[in-house]
Amino acid sequence: MLPDPETPICSAKGCRAAAVWVLAWNNPKVHTPERRKTWLACDEHREHLSQFLGMRDFLKEVVPLEEWEARDG
Ligand SMILES: [Zn+2]
Repeated sequence: MLPDPETPICSAKGCRAAAVWVLAWNNPKVHTPERRKTWLACDEHREHLSQFLGMRDFLKEVVPLEEWEARDG
């Protein structure tokens, strides 16, 4: 079964799982401090992607996708 095109997919390489988490990050070398880039993650890849960003001090927060979308209005 193909995923619903409206369903956000995990950002991990090769992963086609539905995203459950939003990782908000910022690279201070290229982004202004308020700017937020986002990666999406499934349950399986949340930790892996968080570590990747955390090691670089880019990670700002990890928020459930539902909550993130609710914030957006
Ligand atoms: Zn994944």
